[in-house]
Amino acid sequence: MREIQMVDLKAQYEKIGAEIDIAIKSVLESTAFIKGPDVKLFEEELQEYMGVKYVVSCANGTDALQLAMMALALKPGDEVITTNFTFIATVEVVALLGLKLVIVDPDPGSFNISVEAVRKAITPKTKAIVPVHLFGQCAYMESLMEIAKKYNLYIIEDAAQATGADYFFRDGTTKKAGTIGHIGTTSFFPSKNLGCYGDGGALYTNDDAHAEKLRSIANHGMKVRYHHDDIGINSRLDSIQAAILRIKLKYLSHFNSARRVVADIYDEAFAKCHSLSVPERVSYSSHIFHQYTIRVKNGKRDDLKKFLESKKIPSMVYYPVPLHMQEAYRYLGYRENDFPVTTALCKEVLSLPMYPDMEQEQIDYIILNILTFFGK
Ligand SMILES: *Cc1c(COP(=O)(O)O)cnc(C)c1O
Repeated sequence: MREIQMVDLKAQYEKIGAEIDIAIKSVLESTAFIKGPDVKLFEEELQEYMGVKYVVSCANGTDALQLAMMALALKPGDEVITTNFTFIATVEVVALLGLKLVIVDPDPGSFNISVEAVRKAITPKTKAIVPVHLFGQCAYMESLMEIAKKYNLYIIEDAAQATGADYFFRDGTTKKAGTIGHIGTTSFFPSKNLGCYGDGGALYTNDDAHAEKLRSIANHGMKVRYHHDDIGINSRLDSIQAAILRIKLKYLSHFNSARRVVADIYDEAFAKCHSLSVPERVSYSSHIFHQYTIRVKNGKRDDLKKFLESKKIPSMVYYPVPLHMQEAYRYLGYRENDFPVTTALCKEVLSLPMYPDMEQEQIDYIILNILTFFGK
């Protein structure tokens, strides 16, 4: 049996490497490393896939969040509400821009931002809500959009972990994660569902003015060369990454379905195991399983992790420390017991190996060992 990884990028490269090599070589030969034709073509192809009017590529998913907040002209002191249970990038940019960070608990089942908690956190200074579609499943966008409309707020969707997930509206229509709010952001970090071979990111919007602003700010605030209308940054997707992403985008639906197959097998195997709970699947979103994250009860999480390690099965805790307990964010003045849901999740969650190229033998081996640990 092939060694099990959290994400086996090498197994994927073994399958599509020949195509990738050709794509990279053609950029090398063109020497159009920055703003080459592949960047524009990738943006167009991703627009088509996402069903969105504009895709603006940038250097990484963290920049994408920063660009969104800059383009919406959020100002120091404006309050931005987001979830306490996310990767640090989401809150980092809020802090860096001098905005007031307001964090709330997630829903314990879906792991995504609690709509009730958002409602309670709104003040006259609130300007934006940043839902994160964590682990590959959408936050409850329809209610969040209603709240945003009522209070005149912006919604910036952090879709870094959900490229390709579908949101199902009550009226039967469907949209891709990231294309529902005012601006959506994503990351092409190698381990993401659509990952490149370095850093990369993008923004989605259906709004002409937002798109123009984003494009300008991502490129030194210039629309006409050497004329700077906005204070911008340098955040570009390079042509080699774009060429790689053009290949990988063709396989994205297939890769996401393959992840779902693995998740279904895990779900079925663990259904009768009451010492853990499998990830909840909400009715309003498909799940593309960026992570397959179980909750381990009775304080057994760390023991299970160690046991799996001894069997050469990797697993990861996303995320071990709540944001409000991180040293850098002490200044927010939250107390330890302010976020009971996040605190509980940080002690119980465990993400299992998940990637499209997992072999049946590997999946069976993981399941066998987890059930053995719980004496099944
Ligand atoms: C990966 C990730 C980001 C940041 O993306 P980078 O490309 O690494 O900067 C932001 N938010 C979430 C939820 C992520 O998972």
